[in-house]
Order: sequence, then C-alpha cells, then structure tokens
Amino acid sequence: MKIVTRFAPSPTGNLHLGHAYSALIAEREARLNNGKFLLRIEDIDIERCNSAFEKSILEDLSWLKLKWPEPVRKQSNHMADYTKGLEKLHSLGLLYRCTLSRKELAAAMSAPHENDAAKINQGSPRNTLRYISTRENERRLEKGAPYAIRLRMEAAASLAGKLKWFDTKHGEQSAEPEIFGDIVLARKDIATSYHLSVTIDDAVQGVTRVTRGDDLFQVTHIHRLLQSLLELPTPDYYHHKIITDENGVRLAKRNKSASLKDLRESGQKPEDLIRRLGFI
Ligand code: GLU
Repeated sequence: MKIVTRFAPSPTGNLHLGHAYSALIAEREARLNNGKFLLRIEDIDIERCNSAFEKSILEDLSWLKLKWPEPVRKQSNHMADYTKGLEKLHSLGLLYRCTLSRKELAAAMSAPHENDAAKINQGSPRNTLRYISTRENERRLEKGAPYAIRLRMEAAASLAGKLKWFDTKHGEQSAEPEIFGDIVLARKDIATSYHLSVTIDDAVQGVTRVTRGDDLFQVTHIHRLLQSLLELPTPDYYHHKIITDENGVRLAKRNKSASLKDLRESGQKPEDLIRRLGFI
C-alpha cells in the first residue's frame, strides 16, 4: 500500500527544531516507502493563528528542502466538513451543549464530595450537565450564551465497542478514550476542535501514516473513537520522540532561540541542521 504522511503545524508561532524533526520524519517515512508527503495548516483557532506565522512556516519548510503537493489544505477553509461530522455525531445522540464556563466547571468538580474517576485520570469531566440544572442551561442557551459541544463519552465508547490502533514503534494499542471524559468537540465561537478536524482531515486527505510527537500519543485514543463513529478509515501511527534543549526541557514556540526562522536568518545552513537532527 502506498504510504501518505503529513506535517500539520498550527500557525500560532514560529516553528522550532522539534517541528523540523517532525516534518523531516513525515517526509522520510513517505520517501522511504515510495509514498506522498502532505502539508496541512491547522488554523481553526482564528484568534491565535496569523498569516505572518503561516508564511514563515512555508519558508522554514522550503528552507529544509521539503516539497509538498499544492494546494495545501487549510482547515479554516473546510469548516463545512467539520459541521457535517458534528451532525453525524448529533444524529447518533452523542452530543450535548453545555453553557458552564471553564471556571464554573472547575469549581463544581473540585467540590469535596465529587469523586469523579475521569477527574483522577485526565481532569476531564463526565456529563457536565449534572453540574447545572437543565432549566438554567436552556435559559442560557436561549439568551445566546457561549457553550461547548461535548461528546457523551460513555455512550460513544459503548456504541463503538472495542477498538484497536497500531503504532509502528509501540505496537498494537487498545483504544481507551474513556479516560478523557466528555471531550469538547466544538464551541459556539469555534465550530470544531483539534480532535474533530484532525480526524476528519486525515481521512479526507487519505493519510495512511500519522507521524507526530509522543506528546500526542494518548489523544490517538480519541481519534480512533471518532474514526469509528464517523466511519472513517484508521491510519497507522508513528509517535516519535520529542526534541529537547541541552537541559532536557521540551522546546516550545515561545523559546525564540530555537526558532527555525532565527536559524535561517542567522545564516545557518539547512544541511547542518538536517544532519544535526540525524537525517543525513
Ligand atoms: N497541529 C498540531 C500541532 O501543531 C499537530 C497535530 C497532529 O499532528 O496531529 O501541534
């Protein structure tokens, strides 16, 4: 089977060495398997994304000698796809709208009598509507209050049944989406979420091997569940190591010294960087 990989940055800051590593892994996986490497811009969060970062990302990747087919898929152009996905989940009775703010929810969940198993695992609640009366929730919705659209996790997981996914480094995995509780799949202001759009896009773009950092290993449980509910194909996963600085601290977009833009503008040779990351 022909492998299709992708690099999917969010234009919320400049890329750093960790992104270069991730992009080069995706390209290498495709190249070694006679496959295709795609680029996708994950810009659903319009408040935090900007076109200057997007431009810089394209320049960084070209500087690293990466090539990808055009047009590049930009998530903000495909909101209708995500709405369709939400509609399907809604038709399965798996969504609800909750108007509780993060602050209200955190306060309710930290009440001493609350002993929520989901809280112990990932800090995510189960059935947030038990913290607000139906009447109050409806009243707020009618008044146009902000809300989150959440997945009824228990019902979703039981509808999907036992699911597996395969990581090329860690082998076969049993999906355990329940540990996340009733995840948010959309909000009033952003009509999708990372989980929903990434799952749909990987399917729409025919991605067969998702390569990304180990920090996203756990969320694959959620993506596997969404694939099942939305009847989408399941790719393989390759969760790679995370690049750290000399002190072992994970690189972050705000760590300016490690930005690819700075490196290329300071005259660093891309070959040296590619070699340093272990790709030559
Ligand atoms: N857009 C995500 C990020 O920049 C990557 C998502 C993914 O590879 O699944 O962290």
